[in-house]
Amino acid sequence: MQLFSGALTIEGFLLYIYVARLMLGPLNEISTYYLWVQRIMVAHKRVDEYISLVPKITSGLKEVTEIKTSIQFKDVSFRYESDLVLSNINLNLEINKVIAIVGPSGSGKSTLLDLILRFYEPTSGNIYIDGINLKDVDLDLYRRIFGIVPQDALLINDSIKNNIIYGREVTKKDLNHAIDVSNSHAFINELPNGIETMIGERGVKLSGGQRQRIALARAILKNAPILILDEATSALDSETEAEIQHALDYVMRDKTVIAIAHRLSTIVKMDRIILLHEGKIVEQGTHNELLTLGGLYSKYWERQSGGFIGIDKIAV
Ligand code: ADP
Repeated sequence: MQLFSGALTIEGFLLYIYVARLMLGPLNEISTYYLWVQRIMVAHKRVDEYISLVPKITSGLKEVTEIKTSIQFKDVSFRYESDLVLSNINLNLEINKVIAIVGPSGSGKSTLLDLILRFYEPTSGNIYIDGINLKDVDLDLYRRIFGIVPQDALLINDSIKNNIIYGREVTKKDLNHAIDVSNSHAFINELPNGIETMIGERGVKLSGGQRQRIALARAILKNAPILILDEATSALDSETEAEIQHALDYVMRDKTVIAIAHRLSTIVKMDRIILLHEGKIVEQGTHNELLTLGGLYSKYWERQSGGFIGIDKIAV
């Protein structure tokens, strides 16, 4: 109407349409960002709840920064819900030994490791660190004693380098050592930007074996005296397996290692093998001792040749 009445020129009208269209995009963006901000505020509130949790006991805790002799389980039982997952575990895990925990799926191996790290408290019984009850130990310091290589390593959406150093101040020499020892060198060199290559959603996808080697490099760099290893169950190709084994052999030379092991190549070399079955320790000893014993372990052994990879699937 303004156009017809002469209040608006044709140029003015075209300019109006042009500007209106230009404004649409940014206006849309504002509403999208507003939604984002709302989401971030909710996420922040949830994370903040955890960050601001204060431990119930903060004073009188014993500062354990190294373990000299052993981690000892005394009559430890544990249940998540109704059924006991571990019952009456009596176990002495000596320092400077390489120990394997083996057993079928669901026998309580991961739970045992979780109790060592005190992610859970025993339902009954106690765990002692050099004779000190784990309940009385300063957890923050205690957990620094352990380097953990989980089955499926948690990788962050960042470069390979940042995934290995994980926020620590490290020298180039130490970083290169960790990469070498974990046998990650070859595959990192093949990536488009080497150690700076982004991984995760925004970058390359790594295979299970590669992820585990990154986790291993991270643990090596942390240089914790005790290594907790949850060996991947998924079958790795034999080349990757050999590479990981080589890396582990190196790490195991001068460390205490407690490993949930599935691969024969790992198990036979262990100082001690602990066989769990339905939440109980049924046998323990070296590979040869357990074979001589002729019990459950030797049955598992007979039923499969070439490794314990299938231990979870074997019915005895
Ligand atoms: P393994 O490592 O030998 O496969 P786990 O320690 O993972 O065995 O599990 C032992 C038992 O505890 C299984 O029956 C499993 O289903 C149960 N379980 C494991 N984690 C939890 C949990 N967070 N809540 C309830 N039950 C669990």
